[in-house]
Amino acid sequence: IKTIGVLTSGGDAPGMNAAIRAVVRKAICNGVKVKGIKKGYQGLLNEEIIDMDARSVSDTIQKGGTILGTARCLEFKTEAGQKKGAEICRRHGIDGLVVIGGDGSYRGAQAMSRLGINTIGLPGTIDLDIACTEYTIGFDTAVNTAMQAIDKVRDTSSSHERCSIIEVMGRNAGYIALWCGVGTGAEDILLPEKYDYDEQQLINNIINNRKKGKTHHLIINAEGIGHSTSMAKRIEAATGVETRATILGYMQRGGSPTCLDRYYASIMGAYAADILCAGSSNRVVAYKHGEFVDYDIEEALAMQKEIPEYHYQVSKALAT
Ligand code: ATP
Repeated sequence: IKTIGVLTSGGDAPGMNAAIRAVVRKAICNGVKVKGIKKGYQGLLNEEIIDMDARSVSDTIQKGGTILGTARCLEFKTEAGQKKGAEICRRHGIDGLVVIGGDGSYRGAQAMSRLGINTIGLPGTIDLDIACTEYTIGFDTAVNTAMQAIDKVRDTSSSHERCSIIEVMGRNAGYIALWCGVGTGAEDILLPEKYDYDEQQLINNIINNRKKGKTHHLIINAEGIGHSTSMAKRIEAATGVETRATILGYMQRGGSPTCLDRYYASIMGAYAADILCAGSSNRVVAYKHGEFVDYDIEEALAMQKEIPEYHYQVSKALAT
C-alpha cells in the first residue's frame, strides 16, 4: 500500500474529524501517502480528490461535522457506479480506502474491496445502530447535546407543571432516547424496539404521577416512533395536563465533539490506518468488551443488536 484515500459517507457525526485526522497522521507515520475524497462516494465519482498531509488536518479535532463533507450517492449502489469508483481510485494511485459511515457505507466499502481496492470501515453515526460495535463515532456528543437541551426544557416544564414530550434522533434505533431518558430522569421513554403504541398506559402514568405530587412529566420519544406533536394533543385532551412537544432535530448532529468521541475516534482512525497499511481489506473497526477490534464486513453486517432488556427495566424502575 502506497497511497490511501479517506472519505466520510451517510449522515455526519461529531468526531468524524478526529477520525480523519488520525487516519491521515497515522498513515503518514507508516510512510503511506493520503488523499482526501470529498462528499463521500458521490465525491469519489466526481473525482473530488485532494492531497492531504499532516497539516491538512490541523485545527480540526475540536470541530463538529466533517471537513471532507458527506453525501448519499444512489449511483454507488449500482455495479457500474462501483466499478467507476474503483477505476477512479486506481487512476489516482489510491490502493487503499478508509470509509467512515454507517451500515450503508459499509456495503459500498465491501463492493470496493471486491473490486481490488483494500477498504476498511469505521463506525460513524450518532445513532449507535451498528451491530458489531458498542461505540459509534458521534453518539456520545449527540446524547450530551440532547441531554443538555432536555434539562432546559425540564426546568420550564417543572415551573409550569407541564407534560413535555421531547423527540430525539436515532432513526429506527432507540439508543439515544434510552441514554437521554435515563440521563435526564424522564418519566417515560418511548423506544421503537419496545413501544407497543398503548397510549392509555402513558395517560395513566401522567395522571398517577400528578396524584403522587410530581410537578412535571417528561416523555422522551424516539424519532423511530415520531408523531410527538399529535401525541401531545391527544395526551393533553385525555389528561387535562398542558402538554408540549419539542423536536430537537439536527442540533443533535452538530457541535464540538466530547472528549470521549475525540479519543475513541482517534484510536479507531489510527487502527484503521494501521490494518490497512498492513494489508487488511474488507474489515470494519469496532469497540467490543472494552477493546478495539476488527471484523469482516460480511460478518459485521450479519450481526444483530438489541437494547439490553435489563437497562430498559432499570429505566422504568428509576422513573417511579
Ligand atoms: P447513516 O447511518 O449515518 O445514514 P449510512 O452509511 O448507513 O450512514 P446510507 O445512506 O445508508 O448511510 O449509505 C451511505 C452511502 O453508502 C449511500 O448513499 C451509497 O452511496 C452507499 N451505499 C449504501 N448502500 C450501498 C450498497 N448496498 N452498495 C453500495 N453502496 C451503498
